[in-house]
Amino acid sequence: MRILISNDDGIHFPGIIALAKAMSELGEVYIFAPDVERSAASHALTLGSPLRVKEVPFEVPNVKAFAVTGTPADCVKIGIDFLAPEKPDLVVSGINKGPNMCCDIMYSGTVAAAYEGAYIETLSLAVSLNSYSADVDYTVAAKWGLKCARKLIETKADKNFVYNINVPNLPENEIKGIKTTKMGFIEYRGGYEKRVDPYGKPYYWVNGKPVVIDKNPDCDNNAVADGYVSITPLNRDYTAYSLMDSLKEMCKNIK
Ligand code: MN
Repeated sequence: MRILISNDDGIHFPGIIALAKAMSELGEVYIFAPDVERSAASHALTLGSPLRVKEVPFEVPNVKAFAVTGTPADCVKIGIDFLAPEKPDLVVSGINKGPNMCCDIMYSGTVAAAYEGAYIETLSLAVSLNSYSADVDYTVAAKWGLKCARKLIETKADKNFVYNINVPNLPENEIKGIKTTKMGFIEYRGGYEKRVDPYGKPYYWVNGKPVVIDKNPDCDNNAVADGYVSITPLNRDYTAYSLMDSLKEMCKNIK
C-alpha cells in the first residue's frame, strides 16, 4: 500500500520521522510536508505565490520525502497529485507537537492535512502527542498511530471521516488503553496579551489559557488527561442535520 504522510511542524520535525518509521511497516511511504513549521494553518491554501517542491534526504530508509513551501493542505493536495492517477491508500498526519483536541481541532494544520485525505475518500488519520516539550519521544505515539491504522484498515473503516488520535505523553506501559471519544469543550480565557515595542507601539501575542467546560470523561481532552489514547471520528460534512428541520421552519417566511 501507498501511504501519504504530512504534518504542520515541518518536514524535519522528530514527530514526522517517528511516524514515517512506524508507517513504513504498512507499505511505501511518501512524505509531502511543509519546509518550515506551519502550525495553526488550518485548511489554508497558498493562492498568491508559487509552491516549490524539493525532494530532500530523509532519516528513514526507503521513504521518499518532499519539502513544500506551502501549508499542510497544499502539501497533501500536491502529494495526491504526485501519486495520481491512483489514490493513496492511507493519509496520516503528524505526529504533532501538542494535542489537537476540543476547539483546537479547527485551527490545526495537522488535522486539516488529514481532512484532505478524507475529501478524496481515503482513510485518514491525524496523530498528536499531548506535550509541547522539545525533548519528548514520539515512538510511543507512533506505535499507537500504527496500531489504529492497522485496525481501521482491517475493519474497512468508513473513509468519509477523519480519525483524530491524541496520545498522552506517558511511558508505553502507563497508557491505560484507547477510548473512543467526542470532541471536548474548552474555552480560552484572556486571548491576547498586549505588549509595547521599543518604539512605544502596542503589539499582541496569542496567549489564551484553556478552561475545561465539559467534564465528561468521554471527551477527547479528559480521556487523554486520564491516561487513555483518544480516537475521535470527525465529520467531513459539517452540516448540523439535527437543526435542518427547525431552521427550515424558521426561514420559510423570509422573503
Ligand atoms: Mn503543529
